[in-house]
Amino acid sequence: HLSDRLATVAAYVPDGARLADIGSDHAYLPANLILNKRIKFAVAGEVAQGPLENAEQEINKHHLNDQLIPRLADGLAAIQPEDRIDTVVIAGMGGRLIQQILEAGSNATYKRLILQPNIDVDAVRTWLQANQYQITDERVLLDDGHYYEVVVAEPGTVEYNAMQLAFGPVNMVKNDSIWRQKWEREQGRMEKIMQQLEAANQTQAEAYRNYQEQVAQIKEVLAHAG
Ligand code: SAM
Repeated sequence: HLSDRLATVAAYVPDGARLADIGSDHAYLPANLILNKRIKFAVAGEVAQGPLENAEQEINKHHLNDQLIPRLADGLAAIQPEDRIDTVVIAGMGGRLIQQILEAGSNATYKRLILQPNIDVDAVRTWLQANQYQITDERVLLDDGHYYEVVVAEPGTVEYNAMQLAFGPVNMVKNDSIWRQKWEREQGRMEKIMQQLEAANQTQAEAYRNYQEQVAQIKEVLAHAG
């Protein structure tokens, strides 16, 4: 049984995909997809020995040794040409780390990337745009009090503006209520800080004007979404 977060990521894996799950830890995601007969082959990549052992335990427990291969490697170096991987998941890390992992392996192209950054999702979108991937789907979900972003990308050339990079080009069109909630909460957080700065007569401070600009941007994006 997967968490809502991992189940959302899993739903974006195409049936029959040859999957690499980079930073797999317990390998819950690829194990679940194989046990549910959604896919037949996956690599679970891990840079650290402890998490790799977690993956190996999960693989042995479900007798998945022929279909789910654990590999100790840094990022996309876990993928070998004979794996014929077409889909890559990188989930549960910061966006900057995901960006670094993608950059280090940017000589190869995959049919689909499914990325779930815990923070700094804009860094991920910026990398995708600069490396000939277009964002084909996005979702924000609330799991255990946390907002998580999922970004799906496939080869393609697009140009996103600053707002699309920050808020998500697909999110802005889908106008989903959880996505709105995330940004409304962010707006509220910033407005609270602005009130504190107002009480301290700091409305001329650069920080205050930055918040003012960001709040205006959130309002504008939410007003025009859909
Ligand atoms: N992907 C799983 C999930 O979303 O639940 C596990 C996420 S866990 C918080 C992050 C994992 O990424 C850790 O096990 C860590 O060892 C691994 N990791 C961090 N940097 C990595 C890298 N450069 N290459 C492979 N794995 C990495």
